[in-house]
Amino acid sequence: MASFIWPAIGLLVVGFLAGRAGRIWSDATQRGLAPAQRLGWALRGVVRPARYWWAGRLAAMSPEEQADLLAREVAALGLSRADGQRCPLCRAEVPHAWTLTGDGQPTVAPGPVQCPACDFRLDADRRRTADGRARPRAMPGL
Ligand SMILES: [Zn+2]
Repeated sequence: MASFIWPAIGLLVVGFLAGRAGRIWSDATQRGLAPAQRLGWALRGVVRPARYWWAGRLAAMSPEEQADLLAREVAALGLSRADGQRCPLCRAEVPHAWTLTGDGQPTVAPGPVQCPACDFRLDADRRRTADGRARPRAMPGL
């Protein structure tokens, strides 16, 4: 009885990892990536699948697909613009809250970035640099 447990657990883990790689391979195939690129993304995706789903896949999308995805995500968040954010205090939309740094990292827009409903300032946190700009932070999982 006990001799079947470890091989069964091993098969489950291998199946799970193969499923991750398979989904990435399938999506990369649909996007027309070359076989070597597909293999690379699938192998890396076993360990860090978010790198493909939030970087490689987005880069492989056509501009129309990227615009469609951005519109769907903005709508799912209930925002009117992609650079807006919900106020953490009152949930009102704060327009023009985000911008990108020179190297493409998201950061709080130059201030004041203020909630129009409750005046909470999104740009007034302790993680700011000496010149007043928010420190860019990497997106989780990338
Ligand atoms: Zn607010």
